[in-house]
Amino acid sequence: MSKSQAWIDRGISHVAKTYGRYPLVADCGKGSWLLDIDGKQYLDFLAGVAVNNLGHCHPKVVRAIQEQAGKLLHCSNFYHIPQQIELAELLCEHSFGDRVFFCNSGAEANEAAIKLARKYSAENHNPERNEVITAKASFHGRTLAGISATGQDKVKEGFAPMLPGFTHVPFGDIEELRAAVGPNTCAIMLEPVQGEGGVNLPPAGYLQEVRELCDLNQLLLIFDEVQVGCGRTGSLFAYQQEGVEPDIMTLAKALAGGPPIGAMISREQHAVALGPGTHGSTFGGNPLMAAAALATMKVYLEDGVLENCIAMGNYLYGKLKEWQEKYDFIVDVRGRGLMLGMELNIEGGGFVITALERGLLINCTAGKVLRFVPPLTVNQEEIDQMLEILGGIFTDYQEKQND
Ligand SMILES: *Cc1c(COP(=O)(O)O)cnc(C)c1O
Repeated sequence: MSKSQAWIDRGISHVAKTYGRYPLVADCGKGSWLLDIDGKQYLDFLAGVAVNNLGHCHPKVVRAIQEQAGKLLHCSNFYHIPQQIELAELLCEHSFGDRVFFCNSGAEANEAAIKLARKYSAENHNPERNEVITAKASFHGRTLAGISATGQDKVKEGFAPMLPGFTHVPFGDIEELRAAVGPNTCAIMLEPVQGEGGVNLPPAGYLQEVRELCDLNQLLLIFDEVQVGCGRTGSLFAYQQEGVEPDIMTLAKALAGGPPIGAMISREQHAVALGPGTHGSTFGGNPLMAAAALATMKVYLEDGVLENCIAMGNYLYGKLKEWQEKYDFIVDVRGRGLMLGMELNIEGGGFVITALERGLLINCTAGKVLRFVPPLTVNQEEIDQMLEILGGIFTDYQEKQND
């Protein structure tokens, strides 16, 4: 029996069954490559679901973690933490924000954003003004507020009652959004590009109209950049390509390039609503995670990562778009930077399994959309290797259909 199979058999007994796992037992990684416990190499175009944006084990991030680990792992937020202060400074310097709350995940960052929106609105308007409008097909995390905010029924099944105060409108439809705003609306929360919902881009000008709608009605605009932030779309944050600024932004996934950290960034005028004792997190922004995030952010900013993301994103997009002519089951290719989706007219899950067998990690979201989110450090040779594997799979499939 392979080492992998032994671990898979062992994992059945005591690990929660919350994930449908593929038969891969992870061992180590370097750059765009993940190795399983039997030494098989996989080209990683999932990158931990847009987390390993610098590839696996980027030397600068590993060094920062090693150095910090030998110095101080954790310290309560009752005290001041230099690494956290530096990270907050860097995030504010490069965004619209003035103040950062640190937590450990995307769901927690969104919880913090919703709490801030409610508290600010209760204090500055009235306590009944507590409703948040989000988009259909959105994804905002798995906590109760997260699934209440999420515009997909499948994450809510069996967990009723949902948290009150959320309405969902179609993503990209400004008229529907306008119609949904009522006297008790306090915020609009959107992903600038929807990730889990199928890599859905907003129509041109939509987010600007949303911003105007928020200004007109004194609503807070929350951008969930948990997946699209941190360089994924070719700018440090996705909103920077839209000519609008949010009031609140949430980050997590790639913020530390692997280690768990989340952040909720806001403007001073709103941030004051969360004073001492109103919100907190034991681990949030602890020295180890903050040091990892600081090193990661510096690499995004200083080592040409964003430029590479744009160049490689354009290259990959062009190649995938060409395939739309070649394979009749491809309906659409879309995305921005290295967040690309390929919509099929058939279920995509089978391709994901075949790709894994042939040494390629991709994923399928919203049933029919193959998602490509490789490390932002990926090179052209690796993209060509990916295309060769996937092209082989597509050609085999097409031939079988024509038989
Ligand atoms: C992944 C994701 C989340 C949830 O993040 P967790 O760290 O899993 O809690 C929230 N919003 C978006 C847009 C995401 O992609």
